[in-house]
Amino acid sequence: MRGDSLTLRGMRNLLPDEKAKLNRIESEIRRLFKIYGFQEVETPTIEPLELFELKSGEEIRHRMYRFTDLGGREVVLRPEATASIVKLVVQEMRSAPLPIKIGYVLNAFRYDEPQYGRYREFKQGGFEIFGTKSPMADAEILEISSRLMEGLGIKDYYIKIGHEGVLRAVLTNLNVEESVQDRVLGLIDKERLTEAFEILGPLPKGGEAISIIRSLWEIKSRDPDEAVRKAGEVLKDVPEACDQLENLREIIELAKASGVSGFLVDMGFARGLDYYTGMIFEVYVKDLKIAVNGGGRYDKLAGLLGWDIPAVGCAPGIDRLSLAMDEEAVPRDNLVCMIVSMVKEGDILAASLAGMLRMKGVPTLVDYTRRDISKALSYASKRSVKYVALIGGREVEANTVALKNMETGSQEELKIQQVVEKLSSHSLQRL
Ligand code: AMP
Repeated sequence: MRGDSLTLRGMRNLLPDEKAKLNRIESEIRRLFKIYGFQEVETPTIEPLELFELKSGEEIRHRMYRFTDLGGREVVLRPEATASIVKLVVQEMRSAPLPIKIGYVLNAFRYDEPQYGRYREFKQGGFEIFGTKSPMADAEILEISSRLMEGLGIKDYYIKIGHEGVLRAVLTNLNVEESVQDRVLGLIDKERLTEAFEILGPLPKGGEAISIIRSLWEIKSRDPDEAVRKAGEVLKDVPEACDQLENLREIIELAKASGVSGFLVDMGFARGLDYYTGMIFEVYVKDLKIAVNGGGRYDKLAGLLGWDIPAVGCAPGIDRLSLAMDEEAVPRDNLVCMIVSMVKEGDILAASLAGMLRMKGVPTLVDYTRRDISKALSYASKRSVKYVALIGGREVEANTVALKNMETGSQEELKIQQVVEKLSSHSLQRL
């Protein structure tokens, strides 16, 4: 079997540059955990099937990697993280002080059709706040989402925002059952309005529902005040929906106060996951047609698992953020020193210098190959090493090294203690 056929479709080998970019995104996410007081957790990759049958949305349920394990249990590779995180909170954190703020960076698996930005294994970060219905928590999730984009140097983005509570209030008011609501909202999410209306049409008040949803669908505006005003007119006879609309208005106002901008209010917006109950949003980057982050309020999911607490959160897609990031933003290796022992007698000196530098946290390579000096220097330059410490017969005798600055080409003869002093300012910070 040839090597190239050993990677499954939709799966990827992540090479150093791509991995460095993904790591950069993950560290930005973890920096935000600290700044906003989220505690990071990890959940199992393999979960029982029931967990995702609860409320994950038809689309995702059909695309799960599911199998029977050797013990005869029906299991899945997690297709998303929220259900697992909710389970963790419900099972393990009942006595934690509220609100509970949980962060994660996890991989997920979906048997999606592979295409640009869509893989069968991908990584999500996540921020979830449990135990409060306050719109300030919703606004904080939007604030974090926008700080993440800025932190990664992505400027051209917008936040598409809507409210599943508004749509659900309209449907509930017209006596549409929750399971039918889930189906209708799933179709609206995929812009399959005709099919959604075919389900509503035959229902007793289906005509009214269709007319309101069609009018809401047309309200898409970069001016939140205008969108809310227009939606208010459409919803004037449905007081429950007006309350939900007021909630959306307040969330946007709070988010704006903390510096979030670039909203696109879309009153016909729904998300494919069944568990959303309130504000929902997706972050888009201009030119990329796929969402790089998504989330919203899901007040009933924890209740299904046995603890009735409200929640709001988001899941930035790490691989997609990487597509949106500039190549210049990719961190380089920042190797500081490469030690080249050109003669066997120099090896002890090389080992001792390498040990001292690394103990100080200075990124250091040792050339093990005893190759031609020009080849060693060419390798150092390809790996962007700043200094090369050369040890030949003369250096062994004098107990020194020749330290070459790769940028300027200049070279100086130094004792190893002097090399350590000179390079220790390049030491890596401990996390
Ligand atoms: P979702 O759970 O569908 O809301 O997805 C959360 C985030 O994960 C999305 O905003 C995407 O950025 C990312 N995502 C979802 N599906 C995939 C996929 N198949 N490949 C890569 N990223 C994905």
